[in-house]
Amino acid sequence: MNIIDRPALAPLTTLGLGGRALAEIRLERPDDCLRLPDVLAGFGGDARVLGGGSNLLIHDGDLPFVVLRPLFGAKTPDNRPAEPEILGEEDAPDGRRALIRVGSGMRVPHLLSWCGKRDLAGLEGLVGVPGRLGGAVAMNAGAYGCSTAPLLRSLDVFTPEKGLRTLTSEGWRAEYRHFSLAEPCAWYMSVSAVLSLRKAEPGSVLAAMKANFLRKKSGQPVHERTAGCVFQNPPGQSAGRLLDAAGMKGKRRGAMYFSPMHANFLVHDMKCGVPGSSADALALIDEARRAVRDKFGVELVMEVKEWSSCPC
Ligand SMILES: Cc1cc2nc3c(=O)[nH]c(=O)nc-3n(C[C@H](O)[C@H](O)[C@H](O)COP(=O)(O)OP(=O)(O)OC[C@H]3O[C@@H](n4cnc5c(N)ncnc54)[C@H](O)[C@@H]3O)c2cc1C
Repeated sequence: MNIIDRPALAPLTTLGLGGRALAEIRLERPDDCLRLPDVLAGFGGDARVLGGGSNLLIHDGDLPFVVLRPLFGAKTPDNRPAEPEILGEEDAPDGRRALIRVGSGMRVPHLLSWCGKRDLAGLEGLVGVPGRLGGAVAMNAGAYGCSTAPLLRSLDVFTPEKGLRTLTSEGWRAEYRHFSLAEPCAWYMSVSAVLSLRKAEPGSVLAAMKANFLRKKSGQPVHERTAGCVFQNPPGQSAGRLLDAAGMKGKRRGAMYFSPMHANFLVHDMKCGVPGSSADALALIDEARRAVRDKFGVELVMEVKEWSSCPC
């Protein structure tokens, strides 16, 4: 466990926004969780779990919480990217499947490239998703017909109420871009997951990833500073199309603007000479919500997680 005092959070996010937290606690070994309750109590107790920071809008200023950074399974002891552990195989109606254990700190692009080389299918819709495995589970991230939760066989989690343990599928609830534990808890942190991946034809997984990435790149501003889609798609509709029709494409406040390429992506223009702010981001998000509500009567729900400076 490594504790950093008053870290700046903006550099830990893809959107590049956020003030300073009370502390950052980096966790690399499951044993580190045992010390967490005492360490957190010393800071006042409120904690937020940060993965790759690719789905976060963090407020500016002083933030009254401690940031936990689960880096389990990210690196080997000699500082190289770690690999998933192959546990075995299982039979399923769609063929043989491999069971692998992945630390929640493993970067999703690294995991995908590992799977592609081994023809293990299931995650190829996540190509271009820049987070870590723990964030992909927590968001039930997905695209192009794939999502993370259906591939989960078990999840090792830490909660302040019950400590560290292993859950199976009765232990969680997953829906479109939503994942929560079945039991009440103040917060949870996933430590590692066992995933079940289909053994596919040689080359087919890499080919699917390539096709998905070309599709993503042609329609989304993948090279800009964003946090992915701001809003969830309402049932049967596309949030991007609603925002476009409501006139939000290209709308700007300071350094923040809705992408002219895809209206559901809020971009931080880091080269415009004006510092980006969460206040500008939130004002634009409010404006977008109102515009869609007024024009279509649809209430957009945030997909991006907002970390507020309000202690309430
Ligand atoms: C260019 C771009 C493209 C994207 N494309 C997609 C896409 O196609 N599909 C999609 O679904 N998303 C997409 N996203 C959004 C984002 O990448 C995903 O939601 C991703 O899974 C978030 O992972 P993260 O590790 O960055 O999580 P963070 O942003 O760090 O955290 C997101 C949430 O997960 C929680 N969390 C993180 N780690 C843990 C953990 N170990 N235990 C418990 N909770 C945890 C956090 O507390 C927070 O609530 C995109 C983002 C970008 C920038």
